[in-house]
Amino acid sequence: MRARFNNPQAAGQQFSPAMVPGIHQKGDVHALHAPVLVLNASYEPINVCVARRAIVLVLKGVAMAEEENGHFLHAARVALRVPSVIRLLEYRRIPHQTRALSRKNILLRDRNTCQYCAQVLGPSDLTLDHVLPRSRGGASSWENLVACCHSCNRRKGNQYPAEAGMKLMREPRAFNLHTSRHIMRLMGRSDDKWRKYLFY
Ligand SMILES: [Zn+2]
Repeated sequence: MRARFNNPQAAGQQFSPAMVPGIHQKGDVHALHAPVLVLNASYEPINVCVARRAIVLVLKGVAMAEEENGHFLHAARVALRVPSVIRLLEYRRIPHQTRALSRKNILLRDRNTCQYCAQVLGPSDLTLDHVLPRSRGGASSWENLVACCHSCNRRKGNQYPAEAGMKLMREPRAFNLHTSRHIMRLMGRSDDKWRKYLFY
């Protein structure tokens, strides 16, 4: 395990993943949601997760921090460096064509952006909208689910977008590796530390 702490007194202290949710200093909540690039053991970029998840993986000894983002999280008397890039210690086979259909992956594909009004919001302020309403036979699929803010979701109700006078920003598509690499590249533009892993 290579979780690194800035406080020498912390060196001997046992850190456990259970301590992470207890961090509540000002600014830490934002830091916990910062995006972290996840690399396979081979250094191939495979995912993006939030800092909180990355810290848990490092503390569990599943991954190590490759880059840090300069922020600290404070818990008890120790400060923990927030990673910007982590790498899994054991190689994982990644199914390369599609990803699991999940709320998290839909929000990642849509970059936390309401697909009707283009607002960028936190995950808790977004819901999933069935473009063709479920009550009218719309499927729960990559092609029929989009990120949507609560107010657009209420406005749309049980209607097709056109009936509600609304328009999708773009046609929803399955989230394949190409898409996820593309998203990682877009997100990586704001973080210089990601560049060497994403642009090669
Ligand atoms: Zn909206």
